[in-house]
Amino acid sequence: MKASLPFIEESFDKFNRTIFEDKLPKIPVALSNASSYVGLCTFKTRRRAFRAPEHYDFKLRISTRFDLPESELEDTVIHEMIHYYIRLHGIKDTSAHGNVFRQMMDEINTRHGRHITISHRTTKEQREALIDKRPKWHVVAVVTFKDGKQGLKLLPRITQRITAYHRALMRSGKIAGIEYYFESDPWFNRFPTSSAFNVFFPPMDEVRAHISGANPISVTSRGIEYGNKE
Ligand SMILES: [Zn+2]
Repeated sequence: MKASLPFIEESFDKFNRTIFEDKLPKIPVALSNASSYVGLCTFKTRRRAFRAPEHYDFKLRISTRFDLPESELEDTVIHEMIHYYIRLHGIKDTSAHGNVFRQMMDEINTRHGRHITISHRTTKEQREALIDKRPKWHVVAVVTFKDGKQGLKLLPRITQRITAYHRALMRSGKIAGIEYYFESDPWFNRFPTSSAFNVFFPPMDEVRAHISGANPISVTSRGIEYGNKE
């Protein structure tokens, strides 16, 4: 399921009662479209001389981008509620997920059968699920350096840009060769397309697995030729 305002608010009330002894005041909830996190607890800090820092203006931010099991969304809400509890009560911890946080988390996991973790980051699988799955045609360049290292580059489908990239890289003196393919595997959608003179280094066996090799392009400093097969 994807997070919704009623679901978050109901979860907050439920766990405030069952886990936090109703010690947490209602918190504004903001939904976001973030891909880097599922949940965050944000707040401001006021620092004054001779006083402990004071935290206020708490907000619970939840991304609606991910389709997650209900229990995982609940664990996310509880994770943020632990942050809220610690900051609200001015409890000192060794870091954001320090000793106090971990102790509370472990206790809740044991006593309430939860599976809360200290990670805010979304998992690789969750981020993969967001990548556009529609096939799109890309000009894929596999760059081989003279030291044997290989990299990947996605180029715009504009002849002058492709030949300019080819010329600049070959002129650098570091390149042994560049293979070009016209490829529609949606796996490549995760890489940006540009004519900047850079190269990415994803695992090459993975790259090769997604190049069908059916449409090689031959590029020279003068122009390009698309291979055809009938
Ligand atoms: Zn956290």
